[in-house]
Amino acid sequence: MSQYTKILVAVDLSEESAQVSERGHAVARSNNAELHLIHVIEPLSFAYGGDIPMDFSGIQDEILQQATQQLKRFAEANGIDEEHQHIILGRPEAEIHATAKELGADLIVVGSHGRHGLALLLGSTANGVLHGAHCDVLAVRVARHE
Ligand code: AMP
Repeated sequence: MSQYTKILVAVDLSEESAQVSERGHAVARSNNAELHLIHVIEPLSFAYGGDIPMDFSGIQDEILQQATQQLKRFAEANGIDEEHQHIILGRPEAEIHATAKELGADLIVVGSHGRHGLALLLGSTANGVLHGAHCDVLAVRVARHE
């Protein structure tokens, strides 16, 4: 079986991110692959754009800065250098797909909660990433800290 060469680990920067990245690292080590981290920020205008006539740019910049710092700290703690950190504004599924394609990643790693009921109907990011991916997707079952 061929080995993975480039792995893209998607993190939402919640507590579960450590479990997802740990698994990504393990696969990267055993395949001698390059590891990249991605975090996507959803523009506030996606959620409120049509409803509230407000300029969100200041808040959006603040969110972007904070998330960049958070991703940096997380990446440093996991031994991932700056060139391998990607912070993107957009819809998580679409941006994860686009970045994986751009990098030529052959594996995407995401976290997955064994959802059921209404949450299953609404779907999840892992589900969205799986559909339409141009490479393998590893869904890491994560335990929720609630
Ligand atoms: P969710 O289905 O949204 O609870 O998220 C499940 C997994 O999708 C997370 O563990 C991450 O791997 C990925 N994910 C969710 N949101 C984002 C995000 N904003 N940026 C990057 N990855 C994300």
